[in-house]
Amino acid sequence: MKDTSTAHRLGTPDVMRRYPVIVGEVTIIGYVSRWHRTWDAESSVGTHRVGRPPKGQAGDAWAAQWLAEEYAAGRIEPIAARTAGLNATYGPAPLLDPRLPDTPTNRTRALEVWALLGTFAWTPRGGYPGSDNLMLLQCDLCGAIVARFWSKLRGRNGCPPSPGARHKGCLDATEVRRRVPAYGPAS
Ligand SMILES: [Zn+2]
Repeated sequence: MKDTSTAHRLGTPDVMRRYPVIVGEVTIIGYVSRWHRTWDAESSVGTHRVGRPPKGQAGDAWAAQWLAEEYAAGRIEPIAARTAGLNATYGPAPLLDPRLPDTPTNRTRALEVWALLGTFAWTPRGGYPGSDNLMLLQCDLCGAIVARFWSKLRGRNGCPPSPGARHKGCLDATEVRRRVPAYGPAS
């Protein structure tokens, strides 16, 4: 019986938590990533929604298995490495992530989020993905490209977020407060 899969492994995820799927030493056959509860695969033939993994199975390994089978069947070819950071848009980003339905509600929400991001010194480098998906952003204070959840950046119960929670390697909290009034005074 023919083996329909290929030995493969997951590589280190990039800033947007996209995992390269690797065969052999360094051959990348695609990337898998989570969108809400479903998993997507990027390959030489484009982006494919693999779906939701069966209960009890890790989505990354499950989506990687799908890619490996496509590769073994000759339906996809290796691709060049591409990281989300390098894919970042320089200049105005699209308002919505292409995976988010283009509805008036989502557009209104995205504009609200972007206005708030501006007050906290962030520049979007990709479209708004909804509140529970990673957003690609540039830190206006130090220039780092990072991926964050909006739910972690917006603060809670009417209180501003903590400046220490910006991202690893950013300026210290005192300096963040000094430069970004929206964080408010230290309590
Ligand atoms: Zn920073």
